[in-house]
Amino acid sequence: MTTLKAIRGTRDLLPAETGLWNRIEATARAVFARYNFGEIRTPVFEDTALFARGVGEETDIVSKEMYTWEDRARAQSEKTQSLTLRPENTAGVVRAYIEHKLGESGQLQKLYYIGPQFRRERPQRGRYRQFSQIGAEVIGPVSAGSESPLRDAEVLEMLATLLDELGISGWVLKLNSVGSATDRPKYIETLRAALLSVVGQMCPDCQRRAETNPLRVLDCKVPEDQPFIDALPKIADSLDQASRDHFAQVCAALDAAGVPYERDHRLVRGLDYYTRTTFEFTHGGLGAQNALLGGGRYDGLSELIGGPKAPGIGFAMGEDRLVLTLQALESPKITLLDAYIAPLGEAQNPVALTLARELRRQGLSIELGDGSFRLKKSFEAADKVARAIILLGEDEAQSGILTVKQFSSGVQTKVARADLAAHLTASRS
Ligand code: AMP
Repeated sequence: MTTLKAIRGTRDLLPAETGLWNRIEATARAVFARYNFGEIRTPVFEDTALFARGVGEETDIVSKEMYTWEDRARAQSEKTQSLTLRPENTAGVVRAYIEHKLGESGQLQKLYYIGPQFRRERPQRGRYRQFSQIGAEVIGPVSAGSESPLRDAEVLEMLATLLDELGISGWVLKLNSVGSATDRPKYIETLRAALLSVVGQMCPDCQRRAETNPLRVLDCKVPEDQPFIDALPKIADSLDQASRDHFAQVCAALDAAGVPYERDHRLVRGLDYYTRTTFEFTHGGLGAQNALLGGGRYDGLSELIGGPKAPGIGFAMGEDRLVLTLQALESPKITLLDAYIAPLGEAQNPVALTLARELRRQGLSIELGDGSFRLKKSFEAADKVARAIILLGEDEAQSGILTVKQFSSGVQTKVARADLAAHLTASRS
């Protein structure tokens, strides 16, 4: 029989790694709470039309990368329906915002999510077909201040704080503005015209993109194409006055708060819904897939999927990439258990379980050996996982006085059962 394996582009995360995942998520939750964000959990699959409309039919994500299927009808009265595993979470959050009429509260909604996303991309280091994003959205009616450049600056300042608290040093914030919904088509035409005279000398991908989606030319990494791309018109020159003012105010607030950033004229991002501010945080340690996170403003997204006017700004961090970055920056931490209980004979097994129960219920972390193990094997097993071993022979079981050996000091002591929890807690530091 052929052995079954995890699907290409998906991974099992084993306990050696999940500790770091949990720490990242706990830090993110704590930071989001300080900025008044609440958690939202949307379904992993949605109506395909949500992504087609929200993300954009022309994007790589929708045209090539989605896991889409025709869901079978279960009764004659039911229709089949095209469903898709979410490739990103912003469209789902905005759908939920509309469906639950969150805008009617008149308040700004600050929502965060943590969960898996799915894209049929070519797997490589830092790029998977199932990956996890930690993201947040600030969305609401204009009257609640959702269009304010202060919101953009607050989100960026929060991200800088979160990365710092995670211990990710060396991040770079790249910032740009793609202008209003009318600025972008204007720029695309300017770009198309400028490309006409040079694209013949560029790579085949750029030649194709110049026809289908000229903005994507700006993402080209082919070294020979770079001088041509650097000489192309910049989107900054196609922005209307309101978008220029908005961007200037975002920059002024970041300057005042001391959040460093670089202007990147080529940052136009892969999703169609972005307006005005776009950004990415990159990290040199990641190699080719160097984006830790990306985001931007999406003032027209709600209307695009049939909702009220609800400007917003958000981001998605690649959790897999946060993990890779931290693994490279930190040496792995091994957390030892408080103690390992070694029953010295099968007759002591029930007492050992009872003792383990008592200690675990008092908040101690305990591993339990088995009475059929020899003493040497118990010591070896204990030394790998715990700071101390508790020996539980017939004498100890009867007297209630246990032998405890601390591995770091090599000291062996007798401790009364009632004092055991306090003894083990004191030896933690
Ligand atoms: P996007 O939704 O494309 O703006 O991506 C936001 C962030 O999600 C990126 O900066 C990456 O960190 C992460 N990301 C996107 N696609 C993948 C993928 N296939 N595998 C791992 N992380 C990804």
